[in-house]
Amino acid sequence: MPHESPRSARAYHRQIEEALNDSFQRRTLDKFAVEYRASRDKVFEEIDGRELIRRIADVKDAAAQHIEELYAQFKAEAEKRGVVVHRAADAAAAREIIAKITAENGVKSIVKSKCMTSEEIGLNAHLRAQGLDVCETDLGEWIIQLRNEGPSHMVLPAIHLSRQQVAEDFERVTGEKQDREDVQRLVKVARRELRPKFEAADMGISGANFCIAETGSIAIVTNEGNGRLVNTLPRVHVALAGLDKLVPKIDDALTALQVLPRNATSQRLTSYVTFIDGAGPCAKSPTGRKILHVVLLDNGRTKAAKDPLFSQVFRCVRCGACANVCPVFRLVGGHRMGHVYIGAIGLVLTYLFHDRQIAKTLCQNCIGCGSCKDICSGGIDLPALIQEIRARFGREDGSPLPAKLASLAMKNRKLFHALLRFANFSHRPFAGSDGFVRHLPMALFGKQGFKSLPSLAKKPFRDMWPELQKGAGQDAGKPKLKIALFAGCAQDFAYPQQLVAAMKVFAAAGVEVSFPMEQTCCGLPLTMLGESKTAAEVARQNVAAFAGEYDAIVTLCASCASHLKHGYARLLGDDAAAFSAKVMDFSSFVNDVLVARGLYVFEDSALSTKHQAPSTKHQALSTKEKVAYHASCHLCRELGVKEAPRALIRQVAEYVPSAEEESCCGFGGTFSAKFPEISAELMRKKLAHVTESGAKRLVLDCPGCAMQLKGGADKLGLDLKVTHISELLAENLRDTK
Ligand code: SF4
Repeated sequence: MPHESPRSARAYHRQIEEALNDSFQRRTLDKFAVEYRASRDKVFEEIDGRELIRRIADVKDAAAQHIEELYAQFKAEAEKRGVVVHRAADAAAAREIIAKITAENGVKSIVKSKCMTSEEIGLNAHLRAQGLDVCETDLGEWIIQLRNEGPSHMVLPAIHLSRQQVAEDFERVTGEKQDREDVQRLVKVARRELRPKFEAADMGISGANFCIAETGSIAIVTNEGNGRLVNTLPRVHVALAGLDKLVPKIDDALTALQVLPRNATSQRLTSYVTFIDGAGPCAKSPTGRKILHVVLLDNGRTKAAKDPLFSQVFRCVRCGACANVCPVFRLVGGHRMGHVYIGAIGLVLTYLFHDRQIAKTLCQNCIGCGSCKDICSGGIDLPALIQEIRARFGREDGSPLPAKLASLAMKNRKLFHALLRFANFSHRPFAGSDGFVRHLPMALFGKQGFKSLPSLAKKPFRDMWPELQKGAGQDAGKPKLKIALFAGCAQDFAYPQQLVAAMKVFAAAGVEVSFPMEQTCCGLPLTMLGESKTAAEVARQNVAAFAGEYDAIVTLCASCASHLKHGYARLLGDDAAAFSAKVMDFSSFVNDVLVARGLYVFEDSALSTKHQAPSTKHQALSTKEKVAYHASCHLCRELGVKEAPRALIRQVAEYVPSAEEESCCGFGGTFSAKFPEISAELMRKKLAHVTESGAKRLVLDCPGCAMQLKGGADKLGLDLKVTHISELLAENLRDTK
């Protein structure tokens, strides 16, 4: 059955539920995701991946700005070599051009190798409607063609199907009983069925991974021999590719070829890389030479190339890695995380090339973990593109009511904080003594009931500040450093204890701390909701609030840190530069500044400070505590902070690594509320890994992750303490009084 793309949130949630109940797909994608990561890491060890990715980005960015010159050069060079080059403005034009080629050449039967661009234009259905026999010959593509489905992955189109399902389809097609367990036999059946198709075909249709302007050549990257049969046996060959496949030189293709197979399938090189340099000899052709056409498709590409942000899509080499590492794809599969193209780039291309309404629904399902950006062969900032799409929908269609209300409340700091105080007051009867809402039946929360919800703190951090200020370094003689503390709403109002713990650490190192009272929410939730105008207003308020002279602006929230550092640059440009340059996350500040400068010295696995007098009384230290670490997405990927928190944990406890430490916990700000069914699964997986590690405490750097994992551990009844890293450090401070 063809998969149905969602046009409404309700339909989409129904489809997500179905996907979550597909246990075969869940198991397969889970296994694939873990194995892919490990094997990819291995093949990248031997190259400078970051440098190559940067070079691919540079070449493709330049190509996007010179499409017309590259197209003209490619056409001239290819035509010198006997190729006919066409340019199609849109999908319909491309379909017509190819149909015309079939008619002019008396084509009756067609074999195809894998070509996402043909999926983009709906080519098969169009050609079949003309009475042509069209057969996919890539094994995965043939399987999904038999099922009348679209690919669920750009490189592994049938990854969602079990061998039993495939055997059933083969039984239907061949009329023969198939061995449902023997994959090799099934492959042989496919080969036997497809071989006569190649022999009889009048035309082969392929894609092209690169169209090289200097030589007019095309390059095709495949892992199955079908690609070469498609290109060589039939008398007519049509290569269909987007204008984004144009590159100036063969060296550019060779550079990308060092990354593409490594990122796609963890191979140094695919089994076949074919360069076609003009129309070569062909025994079946009446002229003795191949009839070779190249169709270059625009379909929104030249428009995208002019957009400063969306021109990045030209960097995509269709490696599929952004799906491989996407935690949402891993749970729901490509038919629910894409339309024609799959994964993070699929959401963006659906918006650019396909259906606006489908894109609007799908783009909500990005959790913003940044895994796709981190792995992309072209270094595309995919989360930023998806955020921009949401923002555009907000501007063009008007925001949904929750986003409008959030926008109204958050742009006025006093109103926002008054609302939080009111929420605190009104939920008091339901708050337990352990920091969770206890006295309400969880059934009231529906799907949101997968975790215990935190109650707001009796006293927000800002109300504690006048008292705390006294110990904030001002009395300790000349301070070594002067910082400003950015609290973020979650820590200010729900987890002030995390900030209080940090104050103890700062005080021990003689750091003078200021807490500008005019600070407000960092605005990341507004950006996630597509409310970019209010997000910029809020950003301005914060930049103004922190206008004083500070050595650093420190925050204990990884998401705030990432947004203050990188998001503000997108919202305010140079106006935020001085502010953003000073922003540091807590772990980096303690490890890379305080410890590195000798303001902190760890002794006997305890944290002490050089400037303190020798201690006389020592607090008992929990140095044997087994502590696992959850790396918040914004910290480990957006900010690239990996070692600092782990180094700090090792100093005061037994650090116990757990599986997939850097995978998302499922919080994702507003994502958790919008997609609780997905959020819950990600949370359970994370906590299962931590439990398997044997740790008794889980440490993290983000109050959002704390909310998710503390609440999850409580709901699941786990014997696991979940704290911020500041709390771990503060608990292990020497008592020097
Ligand atoms: S966006 Fe990047 S990771 Fe995704 S398919 Fe394209 S090149 Fe690969």
